[in-house]
Amino acid sequence: MNIARILYPVKVLGPGNRVGFWLCGCSRACKGCSNPELWVQRPEYEIEPEQVFVLVKEIASKHEIDGFTVSGGEPMDQPKELARLLKLIMPISDDILIYTGYQIEELIARKDEWTDFILQNAAVLIDGPYKEELNDNSILRGSSNQRVHILNDRMRDRYQNFFTEAHNQIQNFTTADGIVSVGIHRPTF
Ligand code: SF4
Repeated sequence: MNIARILYPVKVLGPGNRVGFWLCGCSRACKGCSNPELWVQRPEYEIEPEQVFVLVKEIASKHEIDGFTVSGGEPMDQPKELARLLKLIMPISDDILIYTGYQIEELIARKDEWTDFILQNAAVLIDGPYKEELNDNSILRGSSNQRVHILNDRMRDRYQNFFTEAHNQIQNFTTADGIVSVGIHRPTF
């Protein structure tokens, strides 16, 4: 799979201390996208889900992992690889939040086993393309057209509390490639 970043602890894209994955590759070219550097896949970002899981286990051996957030790029353009990764990480936490520019109806209509597996096992799906003119500082959503689908009913209270209590915040990570700013950014950022 093509992954540009794995960060921990991500605190601003879902409840708790999360592992964040940024999958690389997206052809949507939304105006104002905050991750245009992730539109084109790079050979140096190729990694097997099993290798990603080694890194996740290393984090889990030292820290509490409260959930996973999958962003991009477009995660649902790599359904087979993402499904393989989900199978591995689900025993650590089943709070798996996935961002996608597709609408859930388009994903259901695919009728492929990998997409179905993801939809059956993700806790939350935030869907729809980013629209800069609809960026209204919503919690977890880049723009107000995007919808939050709680796919795992056991997560409903957890996320309702998060939506009630959380404030939109930006979290900066220092990485080997420089500063990576995580969160829902306003258009003026
Ligand atoms: S779908 Fe996401 S990653 Fe792709 S262009 Fe739109 S905002 Fe950027």
